[in-house]
Amino acid sequence: MTNLKHSGIVIGGVLIVAATGVLMAFDPQTDPFASERRRMVETQIVARGVEASDVLQAMQDVPRHFFVPEPLRDRAYLDGPQPIGSSQTISQPYIVALMTSLLELDGNEKVLEIGTGSGYQAAILSRLAKDVYTIEIRQELAKNARKTLADLGYRNIHFRVGDGYEGWPEAAPFDAIIVTAAPPETPQALVDQLKVGGRLVIPVGRGIQDLEVHTKTEDGLERRKVIPVRFVPMVSDPED
Ligand code: SAH
Repeated sequence: MTNLKHSGIVIGGVLIVAATGVLMAFDPQTDPFASERRRMVETQIVARGVEASDVLQAMQDVPRHFFVPEPLRDRAYLDGPQPIGSSQTISQPYIVALMTSLLELDGNEKVLEIGTGSGYQAAILSRLAKDVYTIEIRQELAKNARKTLADLGYRNIHFRVGDGYEGWPEAAPFDAIIVTAAPPETPQALVDQLKVGGRLVIPVGRGIQDLEVHTKTEDGLERRKVIPVRFVPMVSDPED
């Protein structure tokens, strides 16, 4: 017997839920964290000068608490980074909003992210660009992020486990690139895979880094320093 039921298919009495739609129990109407998220946007992001309304809306809509480990959900909206396992962190909400706004997306772009981590930044990008390509060097984190994003129904995100220093040549060129781990210098492969006119937002340096915006021009790169930041290092070996 085969019949359709709640977008799942019953085969031999077993309900197989199709991987379409939102499978994780997330209903924005009854979300217990909605008001905390509103407070986060007002007090941490708007108050510090991020104005882009589409970025603010994405930060309001994406349920950040699903991107931190379950025991830390109550801490998801605090004004700082949180651990996500493998000695890595999900970035502070303000930094996610700031970096996203610096990309100046209009919805039509192909964006590359280096450092999938929890998948939270990818979720924000997925709301603001056409396609998101995200690379994570640590297999376990990549696996968890892929599941979280699939469960929440994000469909325009492409995943790769690998070394972001190499970029994603088969999918290049990109309209915008965001790097969420800090290399000592800007990786040349990423510059090569950026379109002319495109922006690269990246923390550069060792220890305390400079958050920089690079804009690719016909003649080279224009570089602008934004603020000092502290990201985990971009590594070439997942055991580091
Ligand atoms: N954007 C993430 C936060 C990333 S933390 C989020 O929203 O949660 C930085 C991530 O970069 C870590 O998960 C780390 O494993 C990853 N990383 C470090 N070096 C990398 C490399 N060379 N290539 C790809 N990912 C890397």
